[in-house]
Amino acid sequence: MTATTAAQAAYIVAALLFIFSLAGLSKHETAKAGVVYGIGGMVIALGATIGLATQSIVATGIALLFGAMAIGAIVGAIMAVRVEMTGMPELIAMLHSFVGLAAVLVGWSGYYEVEAKGGHPAEYAGGLLRIHHAELFIGVFIGAVTFTGSIVAYLKLSAKIKSNPMMLPAHNWLNLGALVAFVGLTVAFVVKPNLALLIAVTAVALALGWHLVASIGGGDMPVVISMLNSYSGWAAAASGFLLNNDLLIVTGALVGSSGAYLSYIMCKGMNRSFISVIAGGFGNEGAISQDKEYGEHREITATECAELLRDAASVIITPGYGMAVAQAQYPVAELTKRLRERGIEVRFGIHPVAGRLPGHMNVLLAEAKVPYDIVLEMDEINDDFPATDVVLVIGANDTVNPAAIEEPNSPIAGMPVLHVWEAKHVVIFKRSMATGYAGVQNPLFFRENSAMLFGDAKARVEDILTAL
Ligand code: NDP
Repeated sequence: MTATTAAQAAYIVAALLFIFSLAGLSKHETAKAGVVYGIGGMVIALGATIGLATQSIVATGIALLFGAMAIGAIVGAIMAVRVEMTGMPELIAMLHSFVGLAAVLVGWSGYYEVEAKGGHPAEYAGGLLRIHHAELFIGVFIGAVTFTGSIVAYLKLSAKIKSNPMMLPAHNWLNLGALVAFVGLTVAFVVKPNLALLIAVTAVALALGWHLVASIGGGDMPVVISMLNSYSGWAAAASGFLLNNDLLIVTGALVGSSGAYLSYIMCKGMNRSFISVIAGGFGNEGAISQDKEYGEHREITATECAELLRDAASVIITPGYGMAVAQAQYPVAELTKRLRERGIEVRFGIHPVAGRLPGHMNVLLAEAKVPYDIVLEMDEINDDFPATDVVLVIGANDTVNPAAIEEPNSPIAGMPVLHVWEAKHVVIFKRSMATGYAGVQNPLFFRENSAMLFGDAKARVEDILTAL
């Protein structure tokens, strides 16, 4: 068996493992196995690619390859160990930007390998050379959009820039103009490739990526993450075509299509138009944040909250990003156990975009060993609030904001939310009256049946446990 055939066989096994990995990751119970399949697939893919590369490159090239891999592995391992769960979204956004940058670099090196040398007649006979021109150009475009788009997402998610949508005048026309320019430049490059065109498409795509994500508001960021995930997949697939690497094409297509499907599901969950979000906030022009007066809020102490819980027959806990920040999942799990021991029905209501990652709350609750069967999705629990005695809103804000239903001009208007205010009593755990991620005031805090329990969520839940 030649090295190439062995590598092809290994690629098929790796591709299958990646598919098993995706299937595994779709359920709590099989998620760990999914991760193991993914690691296995990646080890095989790397081994086969390195094995193949060592056949054709010189010793210095091999030394460089291993040197770069060692540096990358060390930096990656340090970052993975250091990152807090709450910092995962921005880390993911940053990693997407690397995929985009890699695709741009692969495209540019493809240009210097082939086009700048006037083409390789033997390898690229007939129409193949033109196909190479197009692959290269499209790969650079998708890669550059992914690169700057992911950097803006990183800056927004890590709060280094404001998450408000940047609304340039005629921003939809700017996006459309960039796409038209891309089509025109591609045609010109396929007819007669040259460096000026390559520089032009890179610049247009870098600006478009930046603008697309900058135009999307805070509340829609979950979709942006999955959308950039999808773009990074397509960028990798484009590099696969250019490098003639089947596994990269398959893996890129898997990431691209699963990311696109996830974006679609998230859009449905948030009642957003898929097209509007991927077109950089197209149609969001009417949404303005309003500084409305809602009146006074009421406060409650941990002891009073413990009393409310003691007298309750049914309790729903709706966690949000603040639970992740406070790492309150362990005392919350303990509180759940204690209340259940007293015969009180306790369930969790999970909003699809609670926290900062798809499935963020589910991961935290699973980590704290909360039984899966009492953790319900928003749609499964939303009708049960009127018959509930106490709702504990632990560090959630946007996902329990009635303005999404009641205020048509709110930036989060139309987003489905947990109807916590329909319960008899609502206790909101947070440190101040600050707004949530979308920057929108929450009228829930001022309702008659609501009370604020200020302070760090973990400390306050522990206080309740002591009082109980
Ligand atoms: P929000 O981000 O709306 O609000 C979190 C609240 O937690 C804040 O109001 C904050 O108030 C409070 N908080 C923070 N730290 C603590 C602490 N230590 N103790 C107690 N409270 C704390 O949370 P939600 O989960 O309700 O909503 C998620 C938002 O994030 C949505 O807008 C969603 O679109 C967006 N998003 C979601 C992503 C996803 O994939 N899930 C990805 C990107 C964005 P205070 O400062 O007063 O304590």
